[in-house]
Amino acid sequence: MGRALIIGAGGVASVVVHKCCQNSEVFEEICIASRTKSKCDALKAKLDGGKTKITTAQVDADNVDELIALINDYKPDIVMNIALPYQDLTIMDACLATKTHYLDTANYEPPETAKFEYSWQWAYRKKFEEAGITAILGCGFDPGVTGVFSAYAQKHYFDEIHYIDILDANAGDHGYPFATNFNPEINIREVTAKGSYIENGKWVETEPMEIKRVYNFPEIGEKDMYLLHHEELESLALNINGIKRIRFFMTFSEKYLTHLKVLENVGMTSIEPIMYEGKEIIPLQFLKAVLPDPASLGPRTKGKTNIGCIYQGIKDGKPVNYYVYNVCDHQECYKEVGSQAISYTTGVPAMIGAMLLMKGEWKKPGVYNVEEFNPDPFMEALNKWGLPWKETFSPELVD
Ligand code: NDP
Repeated sequence: MGRALIIGAGGVASVVVHKCCQNSEVFEEICIASRTKSKCDALKAKLDGGKTKITTAQVDADNVDELIALINDYKPDIVMNIALPYQDLTIMDACLATKTHYLDTANYEPPETAKFEYSWQWAYRKKFEEAGITAILGCGFDPGVTGVFSAYAQKHYFDEIHYIDILDANAGDHGYPFATNFNPEINIREVTAKGSYIENGKWVETEPMEIKRVYNFPEIGEKDMYLLHHEELESLALNINGIKRIRFFMTFSEKYLTHLKVLENVGMTSIEPIMYEGKEIIPLQFLKAVLPDPASLGPRTKGKTNIGCIYQGIKDGKPVNYYVYNVCDHQECYKEVGSQAISYTTGVPAMIGAMLLMKGEWKKPGVYNVEEFNPDPFMEALNKWGLPWKETFSPELVD
């Protein structure tokens, strides 16, 4: 069917590449391009020999001209941004200049402030419409599948959804005292930030990890979970009918939180530059360099993830509760694609979003969050491509 340019060669990109190669009918050709070309070549070496033709390239995705040159040379149908949130705008600029479709898994975040929101990317709506190209924002699991679940719930089970609780549990154990499951810098910026949720159209801010609940997750059991700020709250509050409150909870073990607290207290999670032996360094980036590479956690991680959404609302005047979730096994993922479940649950939806765009089912000029598309083909594809979901109409609710 076509060709995709995949930017990034880290944990998530590795899964995207594996999944595109499994789906060679759609992804006839892919180019893996990243800052460190040797990582792209290593991925190519793992997967070469299948039906998908793989090439690699070096690119600095902070540089719009380099990106434009690469896109003009490779002429992809879609650019999949699987690098970091800092590159979202430069890659969108290059897509505009070359009239190429765009997809990412995390919203833009300026490197100098730990703040993420959609405003910067939503500002591209008109330009993408006029150029006749589609941008799909946040097409990982959360954001991503959580938006598809929400659109599906709205389409099939509710007239109005009043409350959404997004629950993200990771019961995986990698055996290290402390490691993050995806890019440590992005991950630690997210969990050390203030928490927030939306209630009656307004953001309510909390201290980091201030709100804790215990939840009995299907197939995982009881876990402590904490309210975090998360990017899909912003778009779901606008795109789902009847919203009164949306919250996002993620599980963390005591051990993880204690390590994080110590690192924070000694200043290692700071993004303020400091001078060290005559050189300016950012403590969090230095910390990233000493922590285990998330891509190396795959072979060691045992256990499961459970990510899903609980909806409360009304249909035909009657109250409805609905919980839809996916359970993913770290070791099964490793067996299939050589990565743990966090990368897997992000990479599979990215491939599916790109596939639906290339097939024309999710193609509409403009900049969209996933819940603005028809959820049905995506829900079907989740079952087919490794992230089957389960549903119940009598879930345990979160108070
Ligand atoms: P990694 O750090 O493992 O990989 C990032 C990749 O991007 C690396 O290959 C890196 O290159 C490359 N890169 C960074 N900067 C540049 C640049 N300027 N030019 C070219 N390439 C660059 O991250 P992950 O794979 O864990 O995460 C990828 C994305 O997925 C992130 O945006 C993350 O926020 C998102 N994510 C989304 C989730 C969701 O559910 N929606 C969940 C988890 C992650 P190099 O090797 O040289 O450093």
